[in-house]
Amino acid sequence: MHNLQRRVYEKAPVFLQNILLSLEGYRKTKNVYGDVYYSHLIELANKNHLKEEEVRKYQEKELRKLIQHAVNNSPFYKEFYKGIDIAEIQTIEDLKKLPVLDKETLEKNINFIHTNHRSSIIRILASNKTGKPLKFLFTKEDIQKRIALRDFFRKQHGAINLEMKRASFSSRWLIPTKQQKNLLWRNNFYMKQRLYSAHYCSEQNAELFVSDLEEYKPDFIDGLPSALFEIAKYINKNKVILSFKPIAIFTVYEKLYSHHRREIEEAFGCPIRDQYFSSEGVPLISECVKGKLHYNLFSGVLESSVEGDMIVTCFTTQGTPLIRYNIGDELKLIKNQTKCECGSIHPVIEYINTSVPEYLQSKSNGKLTSIYFSRIWSNFPEGINKIQFIQNSEESIDVLIEGTENYTNAITESIHNTMEYLFGRDMTFNIRIVDEIPYLTEKDFHLVVNNVASRKYLC
Ligand SMILES: [Zn+2]
Repeated sequence: MHNLQRRVYEKAPVFLQNILLSLEGYRKTKNVYGDVYYSHLIELANKNHLKEEEVRKYQEKELRKLIQHAVNNSPFYKEFYKGIDIAEIQTIEDLKKLPVLDKETLEKNINFIHTNHRSSIIRILASNKTGKPLKFLFTKEDIQKRIALRDFFRKQHGAINLEMKRASFSSRWLIPTKQQKNLLWRNNFYMKQRLYSAHYCSEQNAELFVSDLEEYKPDFIDGLPSALFEIAKYINKNKVILSFKPIAIFTVYEKLYSHHRREIEEAFGCPIRDQYFSSEGVPLISECVKGKLHYNLFSGVLESSVEGDMIVTCFTTQGTPLIRYNIGDELKLIKNQTKCECGSIHPVIEYINTSVPEYLQSKSNGKLTSIYFSRIWSNFPEGINKIQFIQNSEESIDVLIEGTENYTNAITESIHNTMEYLFGRDMTFNIRIVDEIPYLTEKDFHLVVNNVASRKYLC
């Protein structure tokens, strides 16, 4: 939501907020659920029964298309692949002839990696490892294909988006600061979706959420595992027997711990189907009915480096092509292609180790993982060069900023307001402009530093 929309939304009564959200939903659906979305969904269903050889051929065709597109339209790739005969890259094996793109090179060259798409959708991401807000461009086609891949995965588990009732536990800003009523969700009628504010999912509010879920009876649920965990704990502790049973729960954006999974599955009486998530864009990695993670061959190519790093090539990155990009997480693919009991042709992942989502602790709003802070940098990509959040006590949080020449006091004020909204008014926030944010060790930078948690050894 833009600032003006947010001001209008904040002052509107709840029924109007529901209408505004639905209108935004309608606007979004035109971008997200357009022709490409539907045709890709049909294509995925048709290709689902192809033989391995045919799938490989499709994957290689898409790979050649992506490389050609990058060289033709991205100034960076044109230079990066200088001296390499692109025509020689025909198969997945050939891909190894191209250099690996590391995070540092991506960050330095991000504006040259972008291709020239006039109507791209912009997303600002801050890397957990550098604290630098980066501008990623996605074309409408990228977005529609990515959502089609996600929805096809969910459909295989019985959940049909836009047709069935969906409950989403979202980190989105939904509830105005000044709201007095205990109404912690909003409706997006157009998308048959009720959005629950994950930010308010705490022990104190759990009862409210549970009684609304009882009334709403969603067909399926998605959202942040940390928020669902709070609700599940309440259900299990109080032995609440729900009058509905979701088809499945799809966890997103945060790492899913095994104790989260146990608690949530027990509470809702249905399986969790997890999906590996990275906002830069990675091939779809999702869980099958047998509880194994598969990587979808129609969405890209996954490789594991000698050191065990995950290297991704993603077909839905036309706006900011990612070809052999070392994402920094660890990956192990199952060798010798043992077939999964689910019958899928897509390769099984044996092991995937994502960096632990760091979090800060509020006095009254529980833990907040870095996904909640994204609003801070997404508003000011031109003003902030680097940012870091440090917690040394339960009462306060330091925000260090390396500003650019576009940094203004209004940015400080806005950051302060956002921190107050997220963490509550019972904490203080010290926002400091510094010349340089130091690394923790020579190579190690963390977006979030929680010295309180490391003392207590929480999590
Ligand atoms: Zn499987």
